[in-house]
Amino acid sequence: MTKQLDGAPPRARLAEVVKTEELTPHLRRIVVAGPELTTLPEDTLGRYVKVLLPGQDGGRPNLALRGPAAAIKRSYTVQHYDAARGELSLDFVVNRHRGPATRWAAGAEVGHALGIAGPGPRKPMPLQASHYLLVGDLTSINALWYYAERLPAGARADVLIEIPTAEDRQALPSLPGVRVHWIVEQPDSRRLLQAVQACTGVSAQSEVFLGTEAGKVRAVKGYLLERTGISSLMMQTTGYWKRGVDAERFGKEKQQNPL
Ligand SMILES: Cc1cc2nc3c(=O)[nH]c(=O)nc-3n(C[C@H](O)[C@H](O)[C@H](O)COP(=O)(O)OP(=O)(O)OC[C@H]3O[C@@H](n4cnc5c(N)ncnc54)[C@H](O)[C@@H]3O)c2cc1C
Repeated sequence: MTKQLDGAPPRARLAEVVKTEELTPHLRRIVVAGPELTTLPEDTLGRYVKVLLPGQDGGRPNLALRGPAAAIKRSYTVQHYDAARGELSLDFVVNRHRGPATRWAAGAEVGHALGIAGPGPRKPMPLQASHYLLVGDLTSINALWYYAERLPAGARADVLIEIPTAEDRQALPSLPGVRVHWIVEQPDSRRLLQAVQACTGVSAQSEVFLGTEAGKVRAVKGYLLERTGISSLMMQTTGYWKRGVDAERFGKEKQQNPL
């Protein structure tokens, strides 16, 4: 966020697309850069930023965070941050749903401008267990991997990643003690719950990160609380999106009824 000297509402930082890459049929990496991105906090990696989407008026950037002309904002996780170059890499789910962010990302080309606000806080995990269960989908893959790379020495982790199709698997670097399970998703939670139940390393002492569709977060959290004895204090849970509900409405719902 950039402070305004004239009392105008704070605005986002200006950024421009410098590179795009199709990672899988449903995930597109967009690298954005700009002088205003050189001063983000050092620990920006793995946190989320708000992407401020340009208006329909020829794609001019809208950096207004508040007020009647505020831009449409969506949350995206930082996959890579290079402060010296002022570059941020973000991975967008595409070809899956209709919404302003996914539409912008699918059509983004080098030179297109947008606003970046944040980063927002990262959910703290104690990282004191010997086993971890990290569950998510393409929207949270960068958050899952952020934690997977920071587990204590000797710890083991099961990382469950739901993907729309088998072609959406990525060649992730192998990490000691970390087992990645790719699950081709179904709209309901059954297949994901079966995969969680099949993780034999889960015990009452496991630490958990859950970041995926809201209904699935509830289903997996409910199962873990009921059947494994893991305390809710050892679970970081976030609804990354909600089926049938856009991000604005979902944000308001989360305030009234947190997961
Ligand atoms: C902390 C945080 C970090 C996030 N990081 C990322 C990230 O790095 N990459 C990423 O792609 N997303 C990420 N998301 C999720 C992303 O913000 C939402 O998916 C957002 O709703 C997308 O906005 P949109 O304009 O495309 O769709 P919206 O206008 O919000 O929604 C339109 C419709 O599309 C549906 N929808 C939204 N997202 C999806 C989806 N992924 N799959 C299927 N249907 C969907 C909604 O249910 C709704 O019916 C993150 C969310 C949070 C809370």
